[in-house]
Amino acid sequence: MPDHFVDLRSDTVTRPTPRMRRAMAEAEVGDDVYGEDPTVNRLQELAAGLMRKEAALFMPSGSMANQTAVKVHTRPGDEVICEAQCHIYNIETGTMAAFSGVLPRPVPGTRGVLDPERVASAIRPASYYLPRTSLVAAENSHNLAGGTVMGVEASRAIGEVARKHGLASHLDGARIFNAAAALGVEAGALAEPFDSVMFCISKGLCAPVGSLLCGSPAFVDEARRIRKMLGGGMRQAGILAAAGLVALEEILPLLPEDHRRARVLAEHLAAAPGFEVDLATVQTNIVMTRVTDPLTAQRVGEGLKARGVLCHVLPPDHIRFVTHHDVDDEGLARVLEALAAGL
Ligand SMILES: *Cc1c(COP(=O)(O)O)cnc(C)c1O
Repeated sequence: MPDHFVDLRSDTVTRPTPRMRRAMAEAEVGDDVYGEDPTVNRLQELAAGLMRKEAALFMPSGSMANQTAVKVHTRPGDEVICEAQCHIYNIETGTMAAFSGVLPRPVPGTRGVLDPERVASAIRPASYYLPRTSLVAAENSHNLAGGTVMGVEASRAIGEVARKHGLASHLDGARIFNAAAALGVEAGALAEPFDSVMFCISKGLCAPVGSLLCGSPAFVDEARRIRKMLGGGMRQAGILAAAGLVALEEILPLLPEDHRRARVLAEHLAAAPGFEVDLATVQTNIVMTRVTDPLTAQRVGEGLKARGVLCHVLPPDHIRFVTHHDVDDEGLARVLEALAAGL
């Protein structure tokens, strides 16, 4: 999109910073399929440490990382307990069924947070004629619930339930650093209860490409095999990993600014006629709003676009706004002006 738009469709639209581009240009590289890219190796080591895991693998995308985790943790015919609105089930083109041959067992959460008791009661008893429950997947922060966060205690409770029943657990932590910033905890504390975790460097952290899949050395060995199976083995990927190393240093500390701007926007929308916002769900950089009659989400989206603001319309009546590094206070002011101009 041209620069004159304020683009709040997603934090994936962020572009690499000048420092990232310099680091990319100067990155020391090797063939990562041989494990010989020093920059990829550095990013993987850093990621594993941050997530309190022993190993990590650089992946081309978050979806590939999540689906690789599902594949490693399951066998065909197994059932995967997941939050009903989660990304792994709803927004990854049915890959869990197509690639891993597993059944989703969606369990509704509260603002995206799974309840350990509901998870426990969704676990199948062992029987030769039932599907085998083998994995519990959680998401933090929760995208479709509006960027809501799951605290350390709640995360531990989910990990605990899984372990107690002999199931694997995976955390879709695409925006785990947003969750950590909102909660004032280390991301590792949110990742620790799960066997594996994925986080994206390509969203609010501004790197152009990539996600890190973290877990035990045995898990990562198997994940590397699956990544290769999917054609996700990359060669001189240090060019990309270099941006991730900068992202974790340069952009990560700035995430609270995105959260502050999301809050301002949410409060503005909540007070505006025609919009409904559950302010309790506005915890990170996502603002989910419902458009009320006689406005329609589609028309609001078009009206905002005509005034230079892009948002993500979720038919029939929801709109998502995501704040990020490339929208500063001036950009936010333009959004508020566009909303004030009437739709
Ligand atoms: C974006 C996202 C993903 C997938 O990441 P891609 O890199 O776009 O494939 C997974 N989970 C959540 C919660 C996301 O927001």
